[in-house]
Amino acid sequence: MTAYLDHAATTPLRPQALEAMLPYLTEHFGNPSGSHAVSRRAKQAIEEARDVVAAGLGCQPAEVVFTGGGTEADNLAITGAARGGTVVCTDVEHHAVLHAVQALGGRAVPFDRLAGALDAGVTVVSVMLANNEVGTIHDLGAVRALLPPGAVLHTDAVQAFPWLDVAALAAAAHLVSVSAHKFGGPKGVGALVVRSGVQLQPILHGGGQEQERRSGTHNVAGIVGMAAAVQATVDERVAVVERVGRLRDRLADGLLAAVPGAVETGERATKVAGNCHIRFPGIESEALLVLLDDAGVCASAGSACASGAIEPSHVLTAMGIPRHEALSAVRFSLGTTTTDADVDLALKIVPDAVARLREG
Ligand code: PLP
Repeated sequence: MTAYLDHAATTPLRPQALEAMLPYLTEHFGNPSGSHAVSRRAKQAIEEARDVVAAGLGCQPAEVVFTGGGTEADNLAITGAARGGTVVCTDVEHHAVLHAVQALGGRAVPFDRLAGALDAGVTVVSVMLANNEVGTIHDLGAVRALLPPGAVLHTDAVQAFPWLDVAALAAAAHLVSVSAHKFGGPKGVGALVVRSGVQLQPILHGGGQEQERRSGTHNVAGIVGMAAAVQATVDERVAVVERVGRLRDRLADGLLAAVPGAVETGERATKVAGNCHIRFPGIESEALLVLLDDAGVCASAGSACASGAIEPSHVLTAMGIPRHEALSAVRFSLGTTTTDADVDLALKIVPDAVARLREG
């Protein structure tokens, strides 16, 4: 048996999404930018998908720009709205935001020091709705109140959408990114909400699709699959959050009870329901993940291999967690397909694996 506890990395395709996509990978193969019947069929599918995605995100259909995923949506938002001004983000953003901001010479600051960084030259402020590593949720209304005149607020809602009412919680943002593969849609497709009146320069130039905001032939099947996943996510969200939240609590409580010294990152009440982030002082998460993988438990560490050395996660470092402890962290991320059996396997395997590593 495999316990897949890495839903924040990606999720399995929902059956509804696959079913919706298949005709657009086979008989309905048209290019939606054309004018004949085969094209019109694909165009109609895209516009129906746009309506569903807009309803799920709380915007008008014309405000939805389909992209090639969350990374592209983030880059389009930040680069496209910068207009030569200063771009600012928090220091716990995903690299898709952080590196886009750095590429424009912008600044990454702690969430609680945003106010001091938002002077008159700032054009874009980017604050994620829910963090991908530790699951923490940010209050975007509070950030909106800090914006200098003329600046726009972007939120990366990629990790939020499976768990939170993004239509309500991101209402304060001018630009909102989502990615289909994080909520049961296919990989390589996402959307950026661009509220009407927000000026956005395209980053991809070409055929002028998406009202000149994102050129490139549409990923028709992907967009249709994303819409089906949006609908299923919205329909099931309340029940999923409750069920998965209980599984997450059982996993976190079980690990804290069974592993001496284990520490949970973040207050559960401030986190999305699928996130279980635990530090296991005295071990290195990379070694633990190998043992877990051998035993059928799939999880991940926030650390990344940079220039040959394992570096602690920038998110944990920004939270003030000491380096050695950050290097001991594992993210178990649960999702719609997670079951009690997955949690049972993790609770059986993880404490023994940590004990083995500590014995050295
Ligand atoms: N933003 C966040 C918070 C993410 O977790 C991810 C994916 O890991 C992305 C952006 C990038 O999305 P995509 O994989 O669709 O490019």
